[in-house]
Amino acid sequence: SQRYYIVGNWKMNGMRAALSEARAIDRAAQRLPKVEVALAPPATLIAAMREAMTNIGVGAQNCHADDKGAHTGDLSASMLREAGADFVIVGHSERRADHHETNGDVKAKAEAAQAIEMGVILCVGETEDQRDSGEAEEIVARQLASSLPNGCQRLSVAYEPIWAIGTGRVPQVADVAAMHKRLRGVLVDKYGEAEGGAVRILYGGSVNGDNAAELLAVPEVGGALVGGASLTADGFVPIIVAAA
Ligand code: 13P
Repeated sequence: SQRYYIVGNWKMNGMRAALSEARAIDRAAQRLPKVEVALAPPATLIAAMREAMTNIGVGAQNCHADDKGAHTGDLSASMLREAGADFVIVGHSERRADHHETNGDVKAKAEAAQAIEMGVILCVGETEDQRDSGEAEEIVARQLASSLPNGCQRLSVAYEPIWAIGTGRVPQVADVAAMHKRLRGVLVDKYGEAEGGAVRILYGGSVNGDNAAELLAVPEVGGALVGGASLTADGFVPIIVAAA
């Protein structure tokens, strides 16, 4: 079976001084080669982090769908790759909310990254109201189907219930299992049994060293997308250990 993929999303956190945490995470990853580890720092740190890392992947948190042009303040996938990113997170709920990104935007960004052979981590997830309504699986399955790129090269999906992000609340294991099974079905429908079956589906939302083992043991959970706990080696390394 595939190695677990444990990815830290630093969001808008991390000045140069934080590279010492990344170095400690990189050293731990060297001792745990059964786990595939990556960090997605703010774009300002991608080049320096790439330079300093020897065992882990480095990625971006967003890209523009176009390769270049009149888009003040934006960065294209090829710019991020040149800076040292080998993958990009697209469709994070914070971008969907703060920047009004639609499923169509997310799909276009994923395809832009794939076109230059970058990896993609595509995020989906329901709000608390949607969870309470009992329709979360249906809603997230539709969100995923509408956001997926045409091909699944270097694609991972991250299921991140919005109400579990940064809250310390984690869904019931049975709910994670049901959602991941449903999302696997969407991937197989779109890409076929073999390729759709091989896309890793990560869980994200309040993952920490105490709950990681239980979440990673859920069927169809292929890794974790970690926010707050990925900012320090003390927070992140126990999650990598749980995946080893
Ligand atoms: P937390 O791990 O801080 O809940 O964040 C999860 C997340 O949004 C990762 O992309």
